Amino acid sequence: MSVLPIVKWPDRRLSQVCAPVDDAAALGDLIQDMFDTMYDAPGRGLAAPQVGVMQRVFVMDPTWKEGDRTPYVCINPEIVSASDGVASGPEACLSIPGVSAEVTRPTEITLAYSDETGARCEAHLTGFAAICAQHELDHLNGVVIFDRLPAAERPQLETDYAALS
Ligand code: ZN
Repeated sequence: MSVLPIVKWPDRRLSQVCAPVDDAAALGDLIQDMFDTMYDAPGRGLAAPQVGVMQRVFVMDPTWKEGDRTPYVCINPEIVSASDGVASGPEACLSIPGVSAEVTRPTEITLAYSDETGARCEAHLTGFAAICAQHELDHLNGVVIFDRLPAAERPQLETDYAALS
C-alpha cells in the first residue's frame, strides 16, 4: 500500500494516449496504490497516467465522500452508449489543483470495462458516477478538463492555474 505522487498539469504525460492493458494480473499493486492515492488526495477518481503509468486503467469511488463506498476498477474501459441528454457542471482534477472548469457531458453512459480479475463488466452510470467515469476515461486519451472548454474560455483558466503555482 502506497500513496503515489500525482502528476500535475502541464506534464506531457497528461496529454498522451495510454496503451491497452494486456494482463490485468500484471498490474500487481498498482490498483491498490491508486485507491490509496485517490482516497488520500482526497478525490473520487484517479487515472493511471495521473501517477505516471501510461496504461488504460482508472479507479473511482463516486460516493465515498458521502460515506458510502462504491469502488470501481475500470481496465480498458469503453463507452458503449451515451445519452442524448447533456448537462454542464464544474469539474475539478487532482492533476490541476485549485481550478475548476465548467464541462458539458452526456448525463448517462453505459461503460464496458474489465475488473481487476480480468472479467469483462458493463455498468449503466448516471449522475456523478457518469461524469466521473467520463473524466477519468478522458485522461486515458490524453484529454483534460482544459481540452473540454470552449476555445474562448481556455486561456483564462490556464492563466488562473499558472498564477497558482
Ligand atoms: Zn482529472
